[in-house]
Amino acid sequence: MSSATKIPANEHGINSREIDKKARTILNSLTDAGYEAYLVGGAVRDLLLGIIPKDFDIATNATPEQIKQVLPSTRIIGRRFRLAHVHFGREYFEVATFRAPHNNSDSGLVGQHGRIIHDNVYGTLEEDAYRRDFTVNALFYDLKNAEVVDFVGGVSDLKKLQLRMIGDPEVRYREDPVRMLRAIRFASKLGLKIEKETEAPIRELASLLGNIAPARLFDESLKLFHSGQAIKILEALREYQLFQYLFPEAETSLAEDIDKDGNEGSYTQLVYAALENTDRRIRADMPVTPAFLFAVMLWKRVSEGFKMYKELGNPALQSMHSAASDAFSEQVKCISVPRRFSNMTREIWTLQGLFSFKNERRVLRLLDHKRFRASYDFMCLRAQCGELPMSECNWWTLIQEVDLKEKKAMCHAASSSKHSRKPRRRSKN
Ligand code: ATP
Ligand code: MG
Repeated sequence: MSSATKIPANEHGINSREIDKKARTILNSLTDAGYEAYLVGGAVRDLLLGIIPKDFDIATNATPEQIKQVLPSTRIIGRRFRLAHVHFGREYFEVATFRAPHNNSDSGLVGQHGRIIHDNVYGTLEEDAYRRDFTVNALFYDLKNAEVVDFVGGVSDLKKLQLRMIGDPEVRYREDPVRMLRAIRFASKLGLKIEKETEAPIRELASLLGNIAPARLFDESLKLFHSGQAIKILEALREYQLFQYLFPEAETSLAEDIDKDGNEGSYTQLVYAALENTDRRIRADMPVTPAFLFAVMLWKRVSEGFKMYKELGNPALQSMHSAASDAFSEQVKCISVPRRFSNMTREIWTLQGLFSFKNERRVLRLLDHKRFRASYDFMCLRAQCGELPMSECNWWTLIQEVDLKEKKAMCHAASSSKHSRKPRRRSKN
């Protein structure tokens, strides 16, 4: 009763050689052993769009144990969703057994060890297509026959550059509200238009994101903001009223940062400049850190908190610590931030207070600090947006480029200039 459309090579245009060689080995090994095996999901979608896929996932009717029999380098992982990772040294490919959609399975069925197995009920190829989110993500590629197998009209949606939810969009968003974020991500990243019915319920259901585990939203936020399309994504998230469930403080700061003539203030400029910078780094294959994203998104809240604690008479360092703790304790209600990143964010903020000191010892120490680079980048963004004079960024750019003797001369010149701020000295008496 399968209703799949099979699209031959001369129509889909995928060249099998574009599929990673090791993924082809896995597909061939499984089919040679008598199982069905397909390339699936994002890889097929990206190949059809002429994009190089970032990973090659495989779906099969073999169980994880059977996969391991065919491919001994398999490691079976996961408890709720049992998945096979087929290893080639440190590199691995995810091979998943066809799964049935949630509502077709015996929900609440308890396994041998008391484990709820309703999420792990194996299904047919067709069922595996229908449990996926968008039609363009539910395509299978059959390597042996060089055919794309399509149950849901994904190929025609891709031709129309359209992102369409499989089934009733509202039901599917309620089942898993993260699909709203995925809709924004795929649409922005792949240049697809969200189909009308898929788009319609988003604003109304946005608040369901409030029920998603903060750890999952951390992962999703990185996928969104480290996709190379962060600006487009920010704008779409705000338009669909989703952003406030990820970064409530940043949403408030952005909404307030507009004057009566509709001009955006320096915070908005900072966010845009930072995301532009992140997009550029991603496209150039340069490393990016989540710490920077949080440093930017929470900056307005933190700098206001800092000012408040200072005005109450607290020393600068302590004021920054308190402001940072306040900002993070609110943020982690939505997105949990692993400690190593929140610590890095705090350091980026704390070091902002040190760039104005130009005495030699402090300058050399700051240049040597393990967070100097990220803090310097952040300070230059602030300068670019008018929060600081551009000359501050230029001074720190130059001092990194000159030798030690010239560094010392620069510090000397800056400290003796009446414009430079000096650390307050305690009186000796
Ligand atoms: P990317 O290129 O960003 O990795 P992807 O399509 O591969 O895109 P993944 O998150 O890696 O996305 O998921 C792989 C596949 O699993 C998807 O293509 C989709 O078919 C399915 N999938 C993932 N998350 C969901 C979800 N929340 N609901 C339904 N199906 C999902
Ligand atoms: Mg993927």
